[in-house]
Amino acid sequence: MSKLEGSALESPGHDSSSGNPDHPGENQPPLLAADEPLPCEILNAGAAAQIIVVCDHAGNRIPRSLNNLGLDEFSMRRHIAWDIGAGDVARFLAPGLGAPAVLANYSRLVVDCNRKLDDATAFRALSDGDEVPGNHLLTATEKRRRAEAIYWPYHQAIASQVDRLCREDFAPALLSIHSFTPFFDNSHRPWEIGVLWDNDPRIAVPLMENLRDKGWNVGDNEPYSGRHPHDFTVDYHGEKRGLPHASIEIRQDLLHDATARRQWAATLADCLKPILEQEELYRFFSGKESAP
Ligand SMILES: [Zn+2]
Repeated sequence: MSKLEGSALESPGHDSSSGNPDHPGENQPPLLAADEPLPCEILNAGAAAQIIVVCDHAGNRIPRSLNNLGLDEFSMRRHIAWDIGAGDVARFLAPGLGAPAVLANYSRLVVDCNRKLDDATAFRALSDGDEVPGNHLLTATEKRRRAEAIYWPYHQAIASQVDRLCREDFAPALLSIHSFTPFFDNSHRPWEIGVLWDNDPRIAVPLMENLRDKGWNVGDNEPYSGRHPHDFTVDYHGEKRGLPHASIEIRQDLLHDATARRQWAATLADCLKPILEQEELYRFFSGKESAP
C-alpha cells in the first residue's frame, strides 16, 4: 500500500462534499507561513533500517496564524500541548537503532495526530481542565485546514518510511514514543514506563520483560491501553499493515532534562536490541504469533 488510503483515513478532512480535496487551501489563508517549520521533522530519512520511530506529540508549536489558540506561554509548556521529553527520547533513540524517525512539530492542541479526525478529542477545546479558546466552535473548514497543513503531511511521512522499508517478505517494526504525567485525577501513577499493545505481542511482551529485568516499574497497557479505540498512529501504520509494533509511554518526571532523556533512549535501545536482532520478528502479523 503506497498511499494513505482505506477507511481509517476517510475523514471529514477528505470529504469531497465539503471542499475540493485537490485544492484544500482554496479560499483560506495558509495555516503555516513560509518561514515556519515544516509539519514534521524527519531524521535519518534514508536509513536502511529495520525499525521506524515515530513521535506524535513531540512538538508544542502553534502556527502564528492561530495566535497561540488564546493560550499563554505557561500553558504551551504544559503537557496539554505536548508529551514533555518524548521528542528528545525519539531523537536520541533513532540514531542508536540506526532508524529513521518522524516527529510531529506542532502541538496536539492544533490537531492531535494520534486521533482519527472525527474523534471528539482531535481538536480539544478543553484539556485537563484548561480551556483552549482557539478551539471553541471550530468549523469543518478550519478543521480541514489544520488537517491538510499538519496532520496529513505527518502521516504521509510515516507512510512513506513504511513503504520505503517494506518488502514482500519483510515487515519493518514501528515504535511510537510518548510520555505521561506523574499524576492524574489526584492519583500518582506508579509506573515509570508503560508499554501499550493490542493483539501483536512480538515487541511488547519481551520489551516489558527486558525493562523489568532492569528494575523498572513497567505498566502493561498502563497508564493507557493499546486497545483504546481512539488511538490512530500505531493502529493505522502498524497494526493495520501487520508490522511488529509497540507504543512506549515514559513518565514525565523521569524526563526532566536532556541527560535523563538520553539515558532513557539508551535504556530503550538496550532492551530493544535483542528483540530487533530476531530475524523472525520481521514478518507480517498473521494473528497466530505468540511472544518469542
Ligand atoms: Zn502522546
